Amino acid sequence: MTSPLEPASRVEAVGPSGIRRFFEIAEERDDVISLGVGEPDFSTPWAARDAAIHSLERGRTSYTANRGMAALRAAISEYVDERFALSYDPDDGILVTAGASEAVDLAFRAFVDPGETVAVAQPAYISYGPGVTFAGGAVLPVRTREADDFKLTAEALEAAGADTAELLVLCYPNNPTGAVMTRADLEPVAAFAREHDIAVLADEIYAELTYTERTGSEMDGGQGDGTASQDPEDPDRDEAGTAAHTSIATLPGMAERTIVVSGFSKAHAMTGLRLGYALGPADAIDAMNRIHQYGLLSAPTTAQYAALEALDSCAGEVRTMVAQYDRRRRFVLSRFREIGMPCFEAQGAFYVFPEVPDGWTADAFAEALLHEEGVAVVPGDVFGVGGEGHLRVSYATGLDDLREALTRIERFVAERPTDR
Ligand code: PLP
Repeated sequence: MTSPLEPASRVEAVGPSGIRRFFEIAEERDDVISLGVGEPDFSTPWAARDAAIHSLERGRTSYTANRGMAALRAAISEYVDERFALSYDPDDGILVTAGASEAVDLAFRAFVDPGETVAVAQPAYISYGPGVTFAGGAVLPVRTREADDFKLTAEALEAAGADTAELLVLCYPNNPTGAVMTRADLEPVAAFAREHDIAVLADEIYAELTYTERTGSEMDGGQGDGTASQDPEDPDRDEAGTAAHTSIATLPGMAERTIVVSGFSKAHAMTGLRLGYALGPADAIDAMNRIHQYGLLSAPTTAQYAALEALDSCAGEVRTMVAQYDRRRRFVLSRFREIGMPCFEAQGAFYVFPEVPDGWTADAFAEALLHEEGVAVVPGDVFGVGGEGHLRVSYATGLDDLREALTRIERFVAERPTDR
């Protein structure tokens, strides 16, 4: 007898996550070094944990306002303004969510009608496609290419036929490639969105994690001398108040058509606390809040207290983590090049995206590497078009493990130059 709990067709249409399969194999062995996860190896800054504990001690365990605690929305508004020159009113431009994940899901459900097209610049984070499908939309993959440093171009949008899309999903700094886009890179994309009246969902959860040199033009509109570096220890970083990341919402005519999504999982190492937010025009945030208030009521209260403290007092810890990631990034990039696996110069997030040697598919390489050397990485194909022939390697892992993993990869490539 068939069960009446037959999944809906839009659920049937989505397969299991391609990343999970590798985690499951990795979990069966205790000698595996996992470079597969997109999760900081650092603990949440102590002050934020303490604030969460204190909120519990004081019995702050009720719902908050649907949109999130007023004090947290005010802090987010101040933070995004200082760091990324984004201007949003805490009263009607910000929605606090259960992770960036909820914000992404709400955006699809709020702005995509059944059958409408959502263009997704790929390779990209694995949740966008399923999220669009669950909302009843159709995914239009837009391929970014290594030759363009995995940046989205107007030509790629044109070639994919994205002019008819309702919504364009952008993820920069990018998971899985580590690509970042400058203001100059974003301008033609913004022009395309304006010309064809396309809304944008900008997932900027890795905005704090950039390792590019800041140029004068990016820092201050071209008036600077271009000498400031983005060394996280560099006090200029705070004085300048602006990180290397540029949000597409800061470009002319874009704030009114863009939802910016971010959160505390990555830069503040708070994945398990499940806290994120969406920024957008008042009407759009209102639409997302309408779904959120029925589906969730409010984001986790304890996590909201932790996030408030993270914004108030943890910028130093974020800088320290960014410095560590940068050190690891440089090490991993140089080792892949020594090994003879070409590797795009990732400048953001905490991933590199090397090419597998000729004679291998990414999937076969990742599987054999896991079985033979106990190193877990993710085949690039799972992130959509443009990911084939690459591996996503996370460096959100300590340097000792990274050293050992790269030694194993070097041995594997020397012993198994092709899949034969
Ligand atoms: N967006 C991107 C690009 C991610 O890589 C991830 C997690 O890996 C998320 C969103 C999910 O973030 P959160 O933990 O805030 O839901």
